[in-house]
Amino acid sequence: MDLSSYHFLDAKRWSGRLWLGGWQSPTAGTAAVREPATGAELALIGVATPADVAVAVARAKAAQPAWAGLDHRTRMKLLLKAAAVLESHGDELVEWIVRENGAIRPKAQVEVAETVALFRQAAGMLTEAHGAVLPSRAGRLSYGQRVPHGVVGVISPFNFPMILGARAVAPALATGNTVVLKPDPRTPVTGGVLMARALDEAGFPTDVFHMLPGGAEVGQALVEHPDTRLIAFTGSTAAGRAIGETCGRLLKRMSLELGGKSPLIVLEDADLELAASNAAFGAYFHQGQVCMASGRILVQEQVAQPFAKLLAERARHLPVGNPATENVALGPIISEAQRNRIHEIVQDTVAEGAVLAAGGTYEGLFYRPTVLSGVKRGMRAYRDEVFGPVASIIPFGSDDEAIAIANDTDYGLSGAVISPDIGRALALGERINSGLLHINDQTIADEVANPFGGRGASGNGGNIGGPANWDLFTQWRWITIESRPTRKPY
Ligand code: NAD
Repeated sequence: MDLSSYHFLDAKRWSGRLWLGGWQSPTAGTAAVREPATGAELALIGVATPADVAVAVARAKAAQPAWAGLDHRTRMKLLLKAAAVLESHGDELVEWIVRENGAIRPKAQVEVAETVALFRQAAGMLTEAHGAVLPSRAGRLSYGQRVPHGVVGVISPFNFPMILGARAVAPALATGNTVVLKPDPRTPVTGGVLMARALDEAGFPTDVFHMLPGGAEVGQALVEHPDTRLIAFTGSTAAGRAIGETCGRLLKRMSLELGGKSPLIVLEDADLELAASNAAFGAYFHQGQVCMASGRILVQEQVAQPFAKLLAERARHLPVGNPATENVALGPIISEAQRNRIHEIVQDTVAEGAVLAAGGTYEGLFYRPTVLSGVKRGMRAYRDEVFGPVASIIPFGSDDEAIAIANDTDYGLSGAVISPDIGRALALGERINSGLLHINDQTIADEVANPFGGRGASGNGGNIGGPANWDLFTQWRWITIESRPTRKPY
């Protein structure tokens, strides 16, 4: 489908612009949005500057009290309308995700469906109690109330640009905050333009939401601004660490959702075909560019060789190509720099003694699904997050050894154990240091209802999503009212 025939995402509206109280021409110029599969220019986007951030935050701050003061049913209606707008233009959104993100169609469809669900769930927050009446002395009404932070800065990455923006934007708005979103410069349309379009079309008031495409310096300006009171960041551990330092200095609330190196443990009694298909999904879904990817596949040594053979067989048969024109399982890597990094990790790990059982080659940005077997402590693929389609098989002996290896990392995002013995698998899984755990599944999963978050280098132990959202997007305020005020002995 030709993107220029689109109505909802018609580029004439937003080409070369930013969403700052409406579609505005930027002072810093424009940047080309490129399709990773072909290198073709898909659109032009406006590039923001730190000065634009200052304007957006000031306008969002001024708009916030009225937004928070709106009848909650009006906020709810707007969020439901945004969900309906996104849903009704799903085909355009899916096509844009496929083209801009290099995603296969099912990934793009999931992303749209989950984003719609996120807006509906955020609307549902407004049917929930957001406070508590507290015990106190006679004559005093004492209650705690959840109140918004003010302006929330949202910084999102390229891999699931729509969901990872929406999972913060929707609950932040629901709870009475105003928002400035900075999408990744490689995916500004699916990470930003479509959100601005949806909220505009739904009728959100001016200045409640701003969207500023740009690089790290624009993100830094958002983090540094004294009036962004919560930063919701999803991205790399290195950037998260820098943002955490700044937020700490400025005594600012933060949510850091960072990288991972999640273990998938296959026990010797597992159905190896089933385990191999789960491992292939965990390692290769969206070309391995998933924070929860099964970054280390720990296989009991009695079955490690047949498992590696099965996985390599699968990897060799997975089609790789342009997801816009072919029916493939893997699309392109997002950029040359990212592809070079993946290849370097594979080559280093082979030089360090691992066996290349499949893949390890590429054409352009299309990296073949790769299997490295016999990966051991000290090798690069054992340690580093690859963020590419690489399955690293690490053999282990006892269950205790599996846990020692699983926890031999600074990351702690997801974990999984595959075995028909659910009691043993769960007992083992509970010893993995991770914020997410899946039994008889691989490591990638997220629903709108669950709290999501990692430990250590995967985040700061905080959570976003489901029951965690009231806690993250609001702060407590304690209020008392004396029905019979008394004089004090002063
Ligand atoms: P990245 O950190 O380079 O970029 C992410 C976003 O942060 C972009 O918008 C970027 O412009 C911005 N940014 C970069 N440096 C910044 C700084 N110093 N200050 C403010 N903003 C800054 O991330 P990436 O490498 O493109 O994305 C992949 C990483 O994201 C992986 O490590 C992956 O595991 C992680 N990730 C985590 C989750 C999660 O929920 N835990 C989800 C998706 C991706």
